[in-house]
Amino acid sequence: MSGRFLWSRPGRPRGRHVHLVLRFRGLDRELHFEDVRKFGLVRCRPLDGLAACPEIRSLGPEPLEIPAGDFAVRLEARRGRVKSVLLDQSFLAGVGNIYADEALHRAGIHPTAAASRLSRPRADRLRTAVRDVLREAIAAGGSSVRDYRDADGELGSFQDKHRVYGREGEPCLRCGGTIRRAVIGGRSSHYCPRCQKR
Ligand SMILES: [Zn+2]
Repeated sequence: MSGRFLWSRPGRPRGRHVHLVLRFRGLDRELHFEDVRKFGLVRCRPLDGLAACPEIRSLGPEPLEIPAGDFAVRLEARRGRVKSVLLDQSFLAGVGNIYADEALHRAGIHPTAAASRLSRPRADRLRTAVRDVLREAIAAGGSSVRDYRDADGELGSFQDKHRVYGREGEPCLRCGGTIRRAVIGGRSSHYCPRCQKR
């Protein structure tokens, strides 16, 4: 949600929205926490108390580490639409709006499908799609829609590979159908009605 960490050099002018500066012993760089919208929260904890921190404790498993069986079982236990479940950080940690839309398109699953009623093969396809999308996006340095930059100030390039996100009205790269946008659970969702049948 637009907050970010950026490396800087001590003594350089500080951005207007930098709320925290971290300095490290023996390092000639400092890490700035910039948060225009002030959604961020910072807690200081000793390392061995980290797991007890409520924000950490409530996070779901890592999407790149969860085994297929666990993913399917967790999905089946969830009420609600699959798009909203993917965005729920207690289900999986770290899947945001862009990557949920891209993964659902790759898996051929409609965003409003009931999470608990997906067949095992479709649940497996979704898990694979989430992992593939995240791996490719990480390799591309992320998606620079609006103002995203990484901690070195570099723009990502995964936005050039989006198949649905931000492509409303454009042709589906797989079937040529028209990409649609709908608001699901308060968030913009982009999908292909032909590849992702309800
Ligand atoms: Zn399509």
